[in-house]
Amino acid sequence: MIIGPLGKEHAIGIFPIRNIQDELHAEQPEKYTRDAKTAYYMDPTEQKIVEAEAKDKDFEVKVIYHSHPDHDVYFSDEDRYLAAPWGEPNHPNLSWIVISVKQGKAAALSEFAWDAEKKDYVERKLEI
Ligand SMILES: [Zn+2]
Repeated sequence: MIIGPLGKEHAIGIFPIRNIQDELHAEQPEKYTRDAKTAYYMDPTEQKIVEAEAKDKDFEVKVIYHSHPDHDVYFSDEDRYLAAPWGEPNHPNLSWIVISVKQGKAAALSEFAWDAEKKDYVERKLEI
């Protein structure tokens, strides 16, 4: 998660959140059919701690980023569901960065931001 001051356009830090997808997949493979190679699930406890600490200091989560190992950059149906589970975003000002990682190296990335008119996430190209 990338954190920055409330209402400002810049960020002040990156707070990695552990991916617990492999643990969920091991515990409940019928519910969590994919492992961490193709899916992620942010540790909700760590996520809540970072969000609470940010809020205490008048910061907010600006961006959530994740990688697509050995896949291209796109905003998947799963990404959409996490960002806007009921068709509306939980946090409309929060954007999502997806990084394509090929053979262990960042190959491309894009930012996806909520477009209230289109009622969907739209891609904004970023340069590495
Ligand atoms: Zn994704």
